[in-house]
Formats: sequence, C-alpha cells, structure tokens
Amino acid sequence: MVKGLERYEAILKGKAKPRYLEAKASGLLERKIKEAEHVLLACEFCERKCKVNRLAGEKGFCKCDAKARVFGAHAHFGEEPELVPSATIFFAGCTMCCIYCQNAPESVMPALGTVWSEQEIASWIELMHARGCKNVNFVGGDPTPYTYNILKALSYCNASIPVVWNSNAYYSEKTAKLLQGIVDVYLLDFRYFNNKCALKYSNTPNYVETVKRNFLLAAKDAELLIRLLVMPSHIECCAKPILSWIAEHLGKDVRLNIMDQYWPAFNAYKYPEMSRRLSYEEFASVLDYASDLGLKNLVP
Ligand code: SF4
Ligand code: SF4
Repeated sequence: MVKGLERYEAILKGKAKPRYLEAKASGLLERKIKEAEHVLLACEFCERKCKVNRLAGEKGFCKCDAKARVFGAHAHFGEEPELVPSATIFFAGCTMCCIYCQNAPESVMPALGTVWSEQEIASWIELMHARGCKNVNFVGGDPTPYTYNILKALSYCNASIPVVWNSNAYYSEKTAKLLQGIVDVYLLDFRYFNNKCALKYSNTPNYVETVKRNFLLAAKDAELLIRLLVMPSHIECCAKPILSWIAEHLGKDVRLNIMDQYWPAFNAYKYPEMSRRLSYEEFASVLDYASDLGLKNLVP
C-alpha cells in the first residue's frame, strides 16, 4: 500500500469507485461540462487567461483550438511504479513554454496533433482499461487547454478506472474547481520557486503563486503525487525551497518523486547554465535536503 494513495489503490481493488463515475451518476459531471464549455468562449483554463473565444476559432498563448489534439496514446511503463501500466494520452499544446521541453515540437505546435473526438477518447480509455491499464493519465504538453474535452470524454466513458491529472500545475482556479470531484490522483510538477526563473525558462508569469494555490487545492480535493524535476544550477533558488514549502504546507508524508532526468532538450543549448545534465553532487544535495526535512514518502 502506497502511503497517500490509499483511495487510488482501493479503486484498483474494486473497493471504491472512480470519482468521475460518482460525479456522472449525481449529475455533477454534466454541470461541470456545461461550465467548461462556457470557459471556451473566453478561455481561462490556465492562469494566462487569454480570454479568446476558442469555439470561434480564436487561439491564445497555447495555440489550441477547441478540438482535442493528441500526439500519442499508449500504455506507459515509465511512470511511477504505482501508476504503471498507465493509459497515457498526450495532448498537443502547452500552457507553459519551457526552453528544455522534451515534448517539443508538439507542445508548442498543437496543430501537429491529431484530432480525437470525445467519443474516441472514451472508447480508447475503455479499451486500455480492458487491456489492464491501471489508470487513465491525461498529460501533454499539458491537459489544461483540453479540460472541456476531457470532461466530455469522461461522460461517454464507463470504465472503472482512476483518473490521473498529469499537469504542469499552471492552471486557473476555475479549472482547479472544474477538476474537483473528478480527478482521483493529481500528478503535478513543481519546477521553480521564484518567478524570475519561471519567466526566464518557461515564459510563465505568476508561476509560484499559481502552483502553490493549485497544490493546496489539489491536496484538499484528492490524492497527490508531486514531481520535482531537479534542474542544473537551480538547487538553492528552486529545488530546496520547493521541498521546504512542501514539507511545511503539504506534510511530510506526501508522495514525492524527486527526479534527476533533466535533459537539455529543445532550446536549452542557448542557456549555458541549463545546457548540461544535473551533476551527481547537485542531486545528492537535494536528496539529503529532503531527508533532513523528514520527507520520507519518496518514489524509489
Ligand atoms: S488554455 Fe491558457 S494559454 Fe490556452 S487559450 Fe486558454 S488561457 Fe490561453
Ligand atoms: S510544461 Fe512540460 S510540456 Fe509544457 S513546455 Fe514545459 S516541459 Fe514542455
């Protein structure tokens, strides 16, 4: 039993229902779909709040239109052990724009994705569940621009499969509320602990306030698994203060994946401090710091 993911595991054992099925039965999912469709008229799914009318074909920062665009969908074996095999669907487009993105070009050019209808997404989820996947994992790019499509797809789906929201955490409060009562596991990235770094490397204003709020809302709503991608030269300014904040605000038992797999992809070569792998010393110092804080529920 993984500490912090007890309900998720109960769903896997058939002892609890995925929350989207409960929301579907109570009518909550239908109400959320209506609200999400309304957001498409003046998009504010993420904190950028571009207010573009995506139903009329306008595009904001993420360049996503109103249709779900997918650039990959398969059983994923590279996620955390408790999640694999994970039916992972990669949506094209992203609300951030990281200089080191490993999912470029699809993350920055959503038009490269293939259009999937909501019924197709639902059928795929049911198929992957029947084939033994433990969860459906909505990722990208980022799933945030497709909040409406995802909720709608779930309304067509009947699989007893937990929903994992795998996001950069840069979504709006409105989206956080739309996800409440639907998501079983929030799988959220925490990258920076100051807005200067977030702006420079991910072109993301108000990052720290936004993700802190979303982590607190997620922890209140459902189960949480945090990913901290440790980046070179960002130990004292980002990784360690993130860990301190997590220990203080989310508790020492929170499930946490401290990741060393930073790779200088995409445009990272233009930034000397980011154009290398993480050093052993940097990673070890972060692990020691987590241990000193008493954070023990780490993904092995
Ligand atoms: S999802 Fe975010 S970036 Fe995309 S249009 Fe909506 S508010 Fe803008
Ligand atoms: S949040 Fe992730 S997918 Fe989006 S640009 Fe950054 S690294 Fe790429």
